[in-house]
Amino acid sequence: MKKILTFLILVLAFNSIKVSAQKTEIKSWNYNINIDYKDSTLFINLNLEAYKTENWKRNYFLFNRYIKIEKAFLNNIPLKYTRSNDTLYIESSNENENEINIYMQYKIPCSYNESLKITKAFSDSTFAYPVQFDSDQIFCERYSKYFPFIYDNFSNYTVNITVPKTYQVYAEHNEINNKSTEDRNCYTYKFFDEDFRFLITKSNIFPSKKLIKNNNTYLKFNFLPSKKRLLSYLNKKPKYITDSIQMDSLYNVIANRSAQALIWYNTNLWEQRFDTLNFVETKIPGLAVNLHSFILFDRSLMNMEVIDNYAFSHEIGHFWVGYNIKYLSKGFYFLSESINEYNNLLFYESWAGETAFENAIKDKINMHYSDIPFFKASFEQVLNQKNGDLKYEMIYCKGVVFAHKFCKMIGKEKYLKIIRDTYRNPNHYITLTDFEESIKKNGCWNKYRKLYKLKL
Ligand SMILES: [Zn+2]
Repeated sequence: MKKILTFLILVLAFNSIKVSAQKTEIKSWNYNINIDYKDSTLFINLNLEAYKTENWKRNYFLFNRYIKIEKAFLNNIPLKYTRSNDTLYIESSNENENEINIYMQYKIPCSYNESLKITKAFSDSTFAYPVQFDSDQIFCERYSKYFPFIYDNFSNYTVNITVPKTYQVYAEHNEINNKSTEDRNCYTYKFFDEDFRFLITKSNIFPSKKLIKNNNTYLKFNFLPSKKRLLSYLNKKPKYITDSIQMDSLYNVIANRSAQALIWYNTNLWEQRFDTLNFVETKIPGLAVNLHSFILFDRSLMNMEVIDNYAFSHEIGHFWVGYNIKYLSKGFYFLSESINEYNNLLFYESWAGETAFENAIKDKINMHYSDIPFFKASFEQVLNQKNGDLKYEMIYCKGVVFAHKFCKMIGKEKYLKIIRDTYRNPNHYITLTDFEESIKKNGCWNKYRKLYKLKL
């Protein structure tokens, strides 16, 4: 169990990693991306209408250097370009031209071996696996590596993704439009952030679907076919189920527990409306991500122990906590992950009871699911966790225990009030200062300062 949980926890860290961007009133860049998939390769036809602005006069884009460009045109004239690292420098015949229309044709290899070469260009990526997975599902984790893009905080983007009719797209942002032609599905998105992640998946690969309605929200679960599923670990022995009735009851637990979590967060944090929440199973090992219009999860999340304690309700919690934190600011992982995981445990307490909750906290204190030896850490150390040297135990054990200590000192009502005051409707990306301001406003500053004196 340890292994699986450790891996799971590892991955939970990634779901809220986002680079903050500011909205500015400028012309939207329009991407029309036509994607075909054959022989483990994505065939891309891309049309980009971009506009130069005061902030962006340079003629370059980020683009993975391992992707071979087969055809490229700039304003209907063959594009001249040079490449260096992950930058594509374009030669513009008319420097004064403000509008750029680029057409590109290229392939993205997705087979394991071929995609490894592309992965090499991913030293800055949080994931080791950018696109590839299997023949049915492709997760495009870093937009900027696969499509010409620029990280300059100045633009907004309209993206049309067109795929064959047998595929469907789930993306980080809700689609603003979707239409179908005889043989294609086309999805339109708008985004302002500096990344845009999406999953292309074959649509007919989910034999088991669950749909439940909770208040006004539809929860749609897409489960992959499976001959057996891990149910639990009893006396350190894995227990598998193969029977379709048993599996169906496992799916029911997932669906009902998720619906319950939604109610809990809505009641205890604040009310959010979702028309539809999609949950999509992938074969991407250890991956669970809340992508704001859907939740991606893999099969390691689907055994009872994980379902009970962590997986789905943790990801659902990220609709409230974790997605709008200032990227890599001090306390980033505490504010995005530890707090969310602690909220998740409060939800756990609501249905599993006080003793189960206390035991779960003890597991965190003792680093029960960790493979590394026990250690103590200060609050300062937790707050200083950075991407590069991130210790998962720091965030999912120590950080959670600090949140718990604080909650114990001030009481659950006050704690939840501070969470609401900090995270609800921010007009900017949240920092530790915002959290501390809420603590001061709620008269808990002195108690909060005590955390800095503890080693847990
Ligand atoms: Zn998380």
